[in-house]
Amino acid sequence: MNVHDTEYMASLLEKAGYVQTRFPQEADIYLINTCAVRQKAEEKVYSLLGRLKFLKRKRPNLIIGVGGCVAQKEAERIMAKMPHVDLVFGTHQIYRLLEFIEKIREKKERICCIDFNYELEPPCDLFPIPRESSVRAYITIMQGCNNFCTYCIVPYVRGREVSRKSEQILAEAQRLIDRGVKEIILLGQNVNSYGQDRTDEISFPELLRRLDKLPGLKRLRFITSHPKDISPELIQAFGELETLCEQIHLPVQSGSDRILKRMGRKYTRSDYLRKIEALRKVCPNIAITTDLIVGFPGETDADFRQTLSLLEEVQFDAIFAFKYSDRPPAKAVSFPDKIDEKTKAERLTEVLNLQKPITEKKNKAKEGKILEVLLDTHSKRNPDQVAGRTRCNRIVNVQAGLEFIGKLVEVKTKEALPHSLRGEVVKVLG
Ligand code: SF4
Repeated sequence: MNVHDTEYMASLLEKAGYVQTRFPQEADIYLINTCAVRQKAEEKVYSLLGRLKFLKRKRPNLIIGVGGCVAQKEAERIMAKMPHVDLVFGTHQIYRLLEFIEKIREKKERICCIDFNYELEPPCDLFPIPRESSVRAYITIMQGCNNFCTYCIVPYVRGREVSRKSEQILAEAQRLIDRGVKEIILLGQNVNSYGQDRTDEISFPELLRRLDKLPGLKRLRFITSHPKDISPELIQAFGELETLCEQIHLPVQSGSDRILKRMGRKYTRSDYLRKIEALRKVCPNIAITTDLIVGFPGETDADFRQTLSLLEEVQFDAIFAFKYSDRPPAKAVSFPDKIDEKTKAERLTEVLNLQKPITEKKNKAKEGKILEVLLDTHSKRNPDQVAGRTRCNRIVNVQAGLEFIGKLVEVKTKEALPHSLRGEVVKVLG
C-alpha cells in the first residue's frame, strides 16, 4: 500500500510539472512516505530525518515532507522536535499534497495536517501512473481497518474501513488495462471486508467477478486477507475466475488458539485450517503464504510449538515472520507478560529454519514444469536476463532480451533456487 501511495504522490507531482531526480541531494522537495507497522521502520524514519537536517542547512529552500503512518502517529513530536521538517501529512491527506506544497512555497509556513477524512474519494483523473512496471499495477479498493488486533497499529494510523465505489475501481482498472497493464493487484488492509461499510456496494467476490470480465485483463490478485472474512463465495472464485491467480496471502500470525484469542484475531487454528483445506479443494495448485508473529506477550513454549506444528501441517509456500514489538497505542502494549528479546530471536530463527526446506521443496516441485510468466523487469543480478512472476507469484529469471519485458510467456523451468526459479521461454502468449 505504501508503494502505491508513493506512486500516487509521484503522479500528482509529475502532473504539476515536477520531475524526479536521481540524486536526492539535488531535490527541491524531499518527501518521505513512512511505515509504522514495526518499530524498526519507524526508527529508520527518525534516522533519515536526522540526516536531512544537514541538507536543509545547506539548502534552506528545500521542502521536507513526511507522510504516511509515522506522520499520522508522530505528527506532534515531528513538528515540535524537527523544525527542518516543513510538512507532516497523514494517511488521508495524500490527495492534498500539491495544495500543501504550494502553501509552503507561498507563505513560508510549516503545515501539519493529519485529519481522517472518511468522505474522500480520490478524483478519477488522478489515477496514479504505474511507475515501476507498465504491465503490473495496484489499485487501492479500501483503506483502514475495523479489526483492532491487539498488536496492530493500523486502525489507529489508517482509520476505519472505507471502501471505494466499485464503479470507480472498475473505471480505474479499465484505464490501466487500456495503457497496457496486464496484471492488477487490489490493495486494502482487509480486502475481504470490501463493501461492508457501505449499503450501496457489491461484495468483494462480486467485485472480483466484474473485474475478471474486463476485456484485456490477464491477471488479478489481491492483498491482504483476514482469515475470518474469507467467505465460501470468495473461495469459490478461485475455482471459477480465469484471471484470478492461484495465490493467496493469508496471515495466520500464530498456531496457538490461546495466542490467537489474545491477539484478537477472531478465528481458531481449526477455522484457519478448514479454510486452507477448502481453498486447496477448489484450487489444488494455489500457493499460500502467511505472516507470523513470534514472541507475542504471554507466548509459552507450548504455544510456540503450536505455531511450528501449524507450519508443518499447512506447508506454506513462503512465510514472513517477525518478532513481536510494542506498537503504542495498540492494546498488547499494556499486556504484562512480555517475552524477552533473546527468546524472541531464538523463536524467529527456529521458525525460519523450519520453513526454509518447505519453501525449497515447494520451489523444487516446479522444476521442469511449463509455467505462465509475466515478464516485467530486468534481472537484478544478470543484465542478460529478464524476470517476472508466475501466476503463483514465484519469481522466474529467463535468458532473454529487454524486448521481452511486458510479455506474457510460457517458461520451462530448469532450476529451482531458494527464492526463485530459472528457466527458458518456450512460447510467447502476448
Ligand atoms: S486485520 Fe490486519 S490491519 Fe487490521 S488490525 Fe488486524 S493485523 Fe492490523
